[in-house]
Amino acid sequence: MPAKSTTASIEAAYGKGVKSTLLSRRDLDFLLFEWLRIDELTKRKRFAEHSRETFSDVLDLCEQLATRYFAPHNKKSDAQEPSFDGSRVTVIPEVKEALDAVARADLLGMTMDHELGGAQLPVTVGQAGSAWLSAANVSTAGYVMLTAGNANLLAKFGTSDQIDTFVKPMLAGRFSGTMCLSETQAGSSLADIVTRAEPRDDGTYRLFGSKMWISGGDHELTDNIVHLVLAKIPGGPPGTKGISLFIVPKFLVGADGSVGERNDVVLAGLNHKMGFRGITNTALNFGEGASCPGGEPGAIGYLVGEPHRGLTYMFHMVNEARLGVGMGAVALGYTGYLKSLEYARQRPQGRPITSKDPSAEQVPIIDHPDVKRMLLAQKAYVEGALALLLYCARLVDVEHSAESDEERDSATLLLDILTPVAKSWPSQWCLAANDLAIQVHGGYGYTREYDVEQHYRDNRLNPIHEGTHGIQSLDLLGRKVVQRNGASLIALNDAVTRSIVAADADGGELAEFAAQLEAVGRRLMTVTTTMFGSGDIEAALANSVIYLEAFGHIVIAWMWLAQLLAAHGKAGDFYDGKRQAARYFFCYELPKTAPQLDLLESLDRTTLEMRPNWF
Ligand SMILES: Cc1cc2nc3c(=O)[nH]c(=O)nc-3n(C[C@H](O)[C@H](O)[C@H](O)COP(=O)(O)OP(=O)(O)OC[C@H]3O[C@@H](n4cnc5c(N)ncnc54)[C@H](O)[C@@H]3O)c2cc1C
Repeated sequence: MPAKSTTASIEAAYGKGVKSTLLSRRDLDFLLFEWLRIDELTKRKRFAEHSRETFSDVLDLCEQLATRYFAPHNKKSDAQEPSFDGSRVTVIPEVKEALDAVARADLLGMTMDHELGGAQLPVTVGQAGSAWLSAANVSTAGYVMLTAGNANLLAKFGTSDQIDTFVKPMLAGRFSGTMCLSETQAGSSLADIVTRAEPRDDGTYRLFGSKMWISGGDHELTDNIVHLVLAKIPGGPPGTKGISLFIVPKFLVGADGSVGERNDVVLAGLNHKMGFRGITNTALNFGEGASCPGGEPGAIGYLVGEPHRGLTYMFHMVNEARLGVGMGAVALGYTGYLKSLEYARQRPQGRPITSKDPSAEQVPIIDHPDVKRMLLAQKAYVEGALALLLYCARLVDVEHSAESDEERDSATLLLDILTPVAKSWPSQWCLAANDLAIQVHGGYGYTREYDVEQHYRDNRLNPIHEGTHGIQSLDLLGRKVVQRNGASLIALNDAVTRSIVAADADGGELAEFAAQLEAVGRRLMTVTTTMFGSGDIEAALANSVIYLEAFGHIVIAWMWLAQLLAAHGKAGDFYDGKRQAARYFFCYELPKTAPQLDLLESLDRTTLEMRPNWF
C-alpha cells in the first residue's frame, strides 16, 4: 500500500496554501466524495479494507509524485526527446527517476487484486490518481499506464506462470509493458495485420513481422520490456477472428526470473512526434534475424489464452486504455485551464468598456467578458469531462465488485455505450480547451516559454490513437447503440431520466435544465430510431461523427445536471462556479446539438455521394 501522506506534507514540501495548477483537488474531492460518494464503495467486500482516508492518502501521494517527479521534467523531455544511435535508445534520466518513484510507492498495481500484490483500490481512485501524473507529464505517465494496462490484461487472461514471470516484475517496476497492435498497413483495420506466429513443438511460437507506432517500444528504463503482440497463426480464420495474442519479451526470462538472452525484437527506428515527445514511439521488427534465440529464426512468443481470441483479450486493455486516453485528455485540458486562469488573473491589459479615462489603471484580463467566456468554456469542458471519466471508472468498480449479475450487467451496459464517448469527447473538447488556454495567453501562449502550447501539442494525439475519432463514432453508432436490441442505449436513457426526475423535483433552474435535457434526449432517441428505421445503413453511418458529437454533448449536459444536483443548496464560490459553468454548458453548448440532430434525421447523403475525383 502507498505510504501515508497528507496535505500537511505537501504543504511542508511546497509551502502553505500553494495551489496546484495541475488539477483542482477541491474539484476532485467534490466529484469523488460529494457526487459519486466513492466512500460507499468500502461497504463492498472488494474494497472493505479501505476508507475515505486511504482514498485521500492515495490522491495526496499522486499529487506529490506528480509535483515532485513528473512536472519538473515535462518541458525538458519535450525539448530533448529520446534518441537512437543505432544500438541504444537514450531517454533523459528524470524519466527513470519518476518511474522508480511510482514503483517505490507501489502505485503500479494499486487497483489490482491482493493475491497479485495489488492494493485492490477502486479504479475510480486509480483514475483520479493517474490524472495527476498525466497533468504533470503525460509522456512519462504513458509508461506507467501502458505497464499497468499490460499487467491488468495478463492478470486476467494469463497463466499463473505468465503472471509470475511477467506481471509481478511489471508491478515491481523492473519490467515495463507495451501494446503492439498497429502495423504500417493496418491501423484502424486490425483485420489486416500480417504479423504471423508459427507454433513450435514445445508450445511456444515464433513471430515474424513489423509493428508500427509502438509507445514505450524500446528504452533502457527497465530491465525488460514485455510486448503484448497481436499476430495471426497460419491456417487460422480470416480477419479479426484469426488474431491471437502473444507475450514477446525483449529479453527471455529464465525459470528463476532472471533476465537472459536477447529475443529477436529489434528497434527499426523512433518516430518523431508533434507532442508526447518524452515517451519513445517505435517501429519494431520481430524475427528479422538480428538474433536467433535458441539458434532458430523468429522472436519467441508465448500464447495468451486460446488461439484466435487475441482481439477479445486485447480489448480488455484497449477499453481500459480508452478510458485512460480520455483521462489523459482531461488532465491536459484541466492543467491548461488552470494555467490560463492564473495568467488571466495576473495579466493587466485594457480597461472596462465603460471606462472613459485612459490614465485609469488597467484591469486584469479576467475582467473582460470575452476572456471569461474562454475560461468558462474551458471550465465547462474539463470539469464536465472529468465527471464523465470518474463516473465511468465507478462503473468499472461496480462491475468488479457487483453483488448480483443484474447489477454487473447494468454497469456493463452503461460502460459499453459510454466508453467511445469517454474516449472521444475529452479528446475533442479538452483539446479545444487547450486551444482556448493559448488564446487567453495571447502572444505569450504561442511561445515555448509558457506550458500551454505543449499541452495543445500533447493533447492533439488523443483523437488519433486507441481508435481514431471516426472509429469511435462507428463503434458508438454501429455497435454500442444497437447492441442487444438497444439495451445499452435504454440503460443510458434510464440513468439520465433518473437525474432528470431528481432535478425536476428540486424545481427552479435545475428543473429548467432538466426539461432542456429531457427534450434533447427525447429528440436523440427519435432521430436514432429514424436513422435505423430508414433501412439505409450507409446513410445512417455516413455521419456517425456528427452523431458521436451530438451524443457526447448530451452526455456531458447530463454530467453537469448531476453535478448541479450534488451542489444543490450548497453555498460558496466553489459551488457558485459549478452553477455558472453548468449554465454556460446549457446555454452555449447543448443548443449546438439541434442542427446536428436535424442533419442526422434528414439522412443527408452529401458525404456519401461525394466522389474522390470531384475533390
Ligand atoms: C503517438 C502515437 C502512439 C501510438 N501508440 C500505439 C501503441 O502503443 N500501440 C499500437 O498498437 N498503436 C499505437 N498507435 C497507433 C494508433 O492506434 C493508430 O495510429 C490509429 O489506430 C490510426 O491508425 P493509422 O495511423 O494507420 O490511420 P488509418 O487507420 O490509416 O486512418 C487514417 C484516417 O482514416 C480514417 N479511417 C480509417 N478507416 C476508416 C473507416 N473504416 N471508416 C471511417 N474512417 C476511417 C481514420 O479515422 C483516420 O482519420 C499510436 C499512434 C501514435 C500516432
